[in-house]
Amino acid sequence: MAHELPALPYDYSALEPTIDAQTMKLHHDMHHGAYVKNLNAALEKYPNLQSKSAEELIRDLNAIPEDIRATVRNNGGGHVNHSMYWKIMKPKGGGDPSGAIAEVIKKTFGNFKDFQTKFNDAGVKQFGSGWVWLAGKASGEVQIISTPNQDNPISQGLFPIFGNDVWEHAYYLKYNNRRPEYLAAWWNVVNWEEINQRLKTFQSHHEPALAGR
Ligand code: MN
Repeated sequence: MAHELPALPYDYSALEPTIDAQTMKLHHDMHHGAYVKNLNAALEKYPNLQSKSAEELIRDLNAIPEDIRATVRNNGGGHVNHSMYWKIMKPKGGGDPSGAIAEVIKKTFGNFKDFQTKFNDAGVKQFGSGWVWLAGKASGEVQIISTPNQDNPISQGLFPIFGNDVWEHAYYLKYNNRRPEYLAAWWNVVNWEEINQRLKTFQSHHEPALAGR
């Protein structure tokens, strides 16, 4: 079964004015579409890898044949990252986090404002293209990290609770070179329910009792 481009869970214009419809259409159809196409093309000569999910492929990149490793890293990563990105946003999203993610943020960063500042700073400082993440560690704790290109925290043994895309293709039409403005506005479309679901998946694999093992 070849990898498939997931449908956007809302209209191209649904995240306006935070993210404009043209950016969403190009970003989803063309950029994410190309990652899926390139990933499938790379896997053509390796039928044994075709049944693996994109997450499984990028979890252990050393297990990927060297001739397609960089392609799988970039395009498998691009597919995983964007599949998450569309779902962790929604129209009329944003506001203060609630539930378990609110507790984790408070415990780790003190309060939501300080967390946002640190997350946005990490996004601004990612030189060139990449992503900024809240990632879960094996200890059960969380940390803010940034990754270059389409690298996903999974490849470092971390769990991607959520991340924001800081490639210029994510914001340039509306925000031009003003990445900090995009990072600040992005919180208006964040889907905390979906992020809480992802946090639940992380926590179910990293019970606090296991911390320190
Ligand atoms: Mn992107």
